[in-house]
Amino acid sequence: MSEPRVLVIGGGLAGLAATMRLAELGIGVDLVSLVPVKRSHSVCAQGGINSVNAMTRQQGDSEWKHFDDTVYGGDFLQHQPPVKEMTEWAPKIVDLLDRLGVPFNRTPEGHRDQRRFGGTLYKRTAFAGATTGQQLLYALDEQVRRWEVEGKVKKWEFWDFLEPVLDSSGRCRGAVCQDMVTMAFRTFAADATIIATGGCGLVYGRSTMSMVCTGSAASRAYQAGARYGNGEFIQVHPTAIPGADKLRLMSESARGEGGRVWVPRTPHDARDPRDIAEVDRYYFLEDRYPKYGNLVPRDIATREIFDICTTDGLSVEKDRLCVYLDLTHIPRETLDRKLGGILEIYEKFQGVDPRAVPMKIFPAVHYSMGGLWVDYQKNAAGGLEEGSPRNQQTNIPGLYAIGECDYQYHGANRLGANSLLSCIFSGLFCASGVVASAHGSRKLAAEESTNLFAAAMRRQESRHESLLARRLGTENPYQLHLELGNLMTRVATVVRRNEQLTAAYAEVCTLEDRWKRCALSDSGNWTNQNVVFTKALGDMFPIAKLILKGALERDECRGAHYKPALAMPGIAATDLAGQYREAQEWCDRFEQNTKRWLKSTIASHGADGDPQIVFEDVDTSLLPPRPRLYGLIGGELIEEVWKERQKKAALNGSGSAAGTAQTAAVAGPSA
Ligand SMILES: Cc1cc2nc3c(=O)[nH]c(=O)nc-3n(C[C@H](O)[C@H](O)[C@H](O)COP(=O)(O)OP(=O)(O)OC[C@H]3O[C@@H](n4cnc5c(N)ncnc54)[C@H](O)[C@@H]3O)c2cc1C
Repeated sequence: MSEPRVLVIGGGLAGLAATMRLAELGIGVDLVSLVPVKRSHSVCAQGGINSVNAMTRQQGDSEWKHFDDTVYGGDFLQHQPPVKEMTEWAPKIVDLLDRLGVPFNRTPEGHRDQRRFGGTLYKRTAFAGATTGQQLLYALDEQVRRWEVEGKVKKWEFWDFLEPVLDSSGRCRGAVCQDMVTMAFRTFAADATIIATGGCGLVYGRSTMSMVCTGSAASRAYQAGARYGNGEFIQVHPTAIPGADKLRLMSESARGEGGRVWVPRTPHDARDPRDIAEVDRYYFLEDRYPKYGNLVPRDIATREIFDICTTDGLSVEKDRLCVYLDLTHIPRETLDRKLGGILEIYEKFQGVDPRAVPMKIFPAVHYSMGGLWVDYQKNAAGGLEEGSPRNQQTNIPGLYAIGECDYQYHGANRLGANSLLSCIFSGLFCASGVVASAHGSRKLAAEESTNLFAAAMRRQESRHESLLARRLGTENPYQLHLELGNLMTRVATVVRRNEQLTAAYAEVCTLEDRWKRCALSDSGNWTNQNVVFTKALGDMFPIAKLILKGALERDECRGAHYKPALAMPGIAATDLAGQYREAQEWCDRFEQNTKRWLKSTIASHGADGDPQIVFEDVDTSLLPPRPRLYGLIGGELIEEVWKERQKKAALNGSGSAAGTAQTAAVAGPSA
């Protein structure tokens, strides 16, 4: 009799972590990936992975503080139990990676070296030079290879996931995939399927993400009925290297190692930056955020850089927006040892040595906090129940999502170096529940009627054939992608305005319509990248639409989602009474906003192709929401007023709506 099998789509850190753990638990895995797993986008991760560690503990750090920083940095938009569990697992995960042979940087005493990343005051980030993602990916791949040799895992590299196969009860029973070399189709029967397919940066055209980050797989799951959460929360990283082909990241680790962001006080000062005296430089992040300095959370740093260039007119260059990121005060030897990989990238693409001359950088689309909606089961300690089949399961039974393509861990803004953690954590943690789910189904997927799989395969074959037959089409898919990317970058990144979002939604619908008239320059049926890209492009439109609609409906500012008309500015009054009154008003507004908007945006794919949006309460049972102040003018007074209110509320035994921990129902079929 056959045994249950699991299908893992995606071989980045999340997919490899899940595969390794599933194999350890004794279940067979088919691992499908668009690219060889070692070329998954995770290989590009530079800066490091977060966990509390021996050094930060001595300074008073704890798992709880890591949890608090993550939730506060994410503007309270994530369900708290999964985040708590993740931060508790973090030290064990980094130890595990160390044991697997990841060459983490060491101090002279032999301890793991740590650097500070944004949104925290502790040095929690372990790193392997500036190529941490590569080292982690290779370490996990080695483990998966061991299981391949044992016959527990079979890899399918250069295969494209096209559609989950659902049975008549709506349970996922596997998937249809396509070999990108022979272009042959194949169905995979699976008792549980895990989507681990990373982010969707290509919806924005140029981003810091790899060219395979199209979001196509998540979109296909969404179009098959999986819900998508918080799509409008797209992280724009503050420091990227502008490029005509793509935008390359200048990791936060550059600031973690002491890099300073500045602009000349004179607009477009033409002098060599090395000749600009200290008094003529404006270190605006340090000036405006004395506590966090250059390491304020990314959403804030990005807005400040954007603002200093657009509103204050202090861009370094006149015709191209950029600011300086300066490492020249740090010894070369330190830079090479700790940041070698990323400095080489800058030098290679800009032709300038960043050890000697300040770099020119500007924000770029980088990460998707939103993704496929997933469930969880809470335990009595407020964390997660290990082994529950609900953990990481989408609303489609038997279909799971992990890593960057889920919406679970980062709320409205991700803290740097928390993604590698959430990818590996979600992969490792979900495995026991996935095994339970795979063993729990009525009959094995392999014993399902062949008609079920044949029908799904036929659907994909005819989609493919009709695309190849479009030789007389009038539209060029690459041109459409360019237009989509430019549009999304213009209206749905740092600053969002409702009238622009509404117009952009209509434009995306037009682009989607034009896509139906695409001509393929390659109509062959052998390694046809043209058809693979055109399919992926078609699947970017549903994601673009849910991003725009979510952004339109969310009438507030939260984390990376910023509508200037709805911003809550700091205190302007100069007299004490006025300041106190404004602080009270600020807190009133914060409470109202929390009541109205502290909810996740959940999109379902409508029959007409439009996203249907509902709002889901957020589980804030562990940390009551509080004002996210960082460097806000008058922030200390607002905090004082807020604390007074909390005290009073506690004495009255009631608590204000926003300030009281809430346990909200988690929507979903299995809740
Ligand atoms: C330049 C850069 C640097 C970063 N540095 C850091 C850092 O230092 N620390 C940190 O915490 N985070 C960092 N991040 C974020 C982090 O790298 C990613 O969020 C994370 O690696 C995503 O891992 P993943 O396993 O979810 O997906 P990925 O690594 O993107 O893997 C996705 C997998 O899915 C497969 N796939 C995709 N579509 C399909 C399909 N249709 N069919 C079949 N397979 C498919 C791909 O082949 C791939 O194997 C960085 C991001 C960028 C852009």
